[in-house]
Amino acid sequence: MQKRISEKDARTLLKEMDLLQLGMLADNIKKKLHPENIITYVVDRNVNYTNICVSKCLFCAFHKDLGASGAYVISKKDIFEKIKETIELGGTQILLQGGMHPELTIDFYTDILKYIKNNFSIHIHGFSPPEISYIAKKSSLTIKDALIKLIDAGLNSIPGGGAEILSDTIRNRISPNKCGKEEWLNVMRRAHKLGLKSSATMMFGHIEKTKHIIEHLKAIRDLQDETGGFTAFIPWTFQPDNTKIKVTKATAAEYLKILSLSRIFLDNINNIQASWVTQGDKIAQTALFFGANDFGSTMIEENVVAAAGVKFRLPKEEIIRLIKEAGFKPAQRDCFYNIIA
Ligand code: SF4
Repeated sequence: MQKRISEKDARTLLKEMDLLQLGMLADNIKKKLHPENIITYVVDRNVNYTNICVSKCLFCAFHKDLGASGAYVISKKDIFEKIKETIELGGTQILLQGGMHPELTIDFYTDILKYIKNNFSIHIHGFSPPEISYIAKKSSLTIKDALIKLIDAGLNSIPGGGAEILSDTIRNRISPNKCGKEEWLNVMRRAHKLGLKSSATMMFGHIEKTKHIIEHLKAIRDLQDETGGFTAFIPWTFQPDNTKIKVTKATAAEYLKILSLSRIFLDNINNIQASWVTQGDKIAQTALFFGANDFGSTMIEENVVAAAGVKFRLPKEEIIRLIKEAGFKPAQRDCFYNIIA
């Protein structure tokens, strides 16, 4: 079994190892955990039910104010068409995410979930912890009761979005209106205890320092020790265009180093996902040698990162080609990382 590294070890690794040394360590761990040489991917679509959001995170190019030009709440007709098309393209799940709409309560969300389940057989991966926290508050419910209502209406699992960096020092500066570190973790803890699985994410390359990245990884590892509910970890880099945070984009080397560190540090999470949406196809392919064993989703539709000016597109056939060209066997998976094709 892999020896667990401490936060101090993590700092030392980042400081003293070069990119290829870190990558080799991560790749060795990945090979032990996934000796079958398979790289998985999932066919799904993002359905962003609204872009109206009161949170106004500084890094977000997607949100609109209520009543602003371009602000929308999705119609059932649009949901129907998007899911129908997803299933026709071989999709098995949708990622249902949106802004913190000031006028919607839990009934809106349970209604959407029931509508989808009544019309389609599809996995609903939906509502990140900040959304759940906000929905619960707007509806005067506890987190647990809000989750129970969402599960009863058809929610199958939770995306790990809205984590950004799990350090309140950073959250207070880049997303002060969003739930804090403990609330994010608490929503996940509750969800896992109610039987929902989730992913976990990290968005870096903005104002954080190395110590905040390590604080984030430690928080995720600790919660995974407690609940075992995380299926995967997905680190990606901040995309600064059209946002209020003016920094230079993180380089490919920075991305690959943190990806490798994630694989090394998170010894209790089986799956680490490459992010072609933010890195493009070539770096995502390279990521398969730096700890990643999953290529993520085909994302038939993606709007949030695209709003920050990053519009990489990869159909399923191209993902399969990239995985094969890198020397691996591609396999389509479901949300729980079971291979289905
Ligand atoms: S990142 Fe999400 S919560 Fe923050 S402003 Fe954008 S839509 Fe709202």
